[in-house]
Amino acid sequence: MLLMKGRDTAMGLMDGRKCLIMGVANQRSIAWGIAQALHREGAELAFTYAMERLKDNVVKLMSTLDGHESMPLLECDVQDSSQVEGLFTSLGDQWGSLDTFVHSVAFARQEDLSGNFLDLTWEGYALAHHVSAYSLIESSKHARPLLEAAGGGSIMTLSYLAADRVVPKYNVMATAKAALECNVRYLASELGPSNIRVNAISAGPLKTLAASAVKGIGTARDIMEEKAPLRRNVTQEEVGNVGLFLASPLSTCVTGETIYADCGFNIMAIG
Ligand code: NAD
Repeated sequence: MLLMKGRDTAMGLMDGRKCLIMGVANQRSIAWGIAQALHREGAELAFTYAMERLKDNVVKLMSTLDGHESMPLLECDVQDSSQVEGLFTSLGDQWGSLDTFVHSVAFARQEDLSGNFLDLTWEGYALAHHVSAYSLIESSKHARPLLEAAGGGSIMTLSYLAADRVVPKYNVMATAKAALECNVRYLASELGPSNIRVNAISAGPLKTLAASAVKGIGTARDIMEEKAPLRRNVTQEEVGNVGLFLASPLSTCVTGETIYADCGFNIMAIG
């Protein structure tokens, strides 16, 4: 979506805006879909990788983008508070300010995404909540001065319908997503006076690395096709475009929301 400025110059929705993308693991990642949409509209991008073994994937994907040579790439495991703080300190040194922070991160142990909900352990619960929910609070705290330096900005995270409906086997991640959506509301309330917006995208099921840890992703996609009002699954590109909307000036009055990008599936009671 290019806006026309003057006669000959096309202007992207995100021209001159600096966006940090956290959560690219490979080409299927939702974060990569959002990054591509932001790049298409002229954003300057920076990326993180969670651990050394994922770095090459991110480097290869970045190399497909114009201007990748000057894009910051920083390591950040959100379980390590010093890395979270260090990420925003380094970004501040390189960029000075930030317009958009995309948080597209989640993790739970395999055993906590199968079996009985009653068998969840504190260790598994704490780990999933640390990575998938608390990390939004900690990283937003360090992102705040950079977003304020830009006069405000947009933070977004990724959620799933299991936050408020029962999806069998989603177990510990369902409770983490419920906490995450609540975090979005509290952050939006606290950061709103600084003109910082905070929202979640609740995406329909996509075949990604994280989703492969949840048993039944294929079944969930089949049910979507059958029952969602639009009778199909969402695409990575479509979720990317919702991310673009939340980052862009088109959504300046939207904050504290969980926006469903799921072909309408969430509205159905009986299909
Ligand atoms: P993905 O595996 O591509 O992305 C998950 C990311 O989390 C990876 O980049 C991984 O490196 C990162 N991560 C895990 N532990 C981390 C840590 N300790 N520190 C930093 N990063 C860490 O899968 P995805 O489906 O793109 O997931 C992105 C987000 O979207 C997640 O929050 C996920 O729950 C959410 N989501 C996914 C779906 C789906 O069906 N795929 C649906 C709704 C919401």
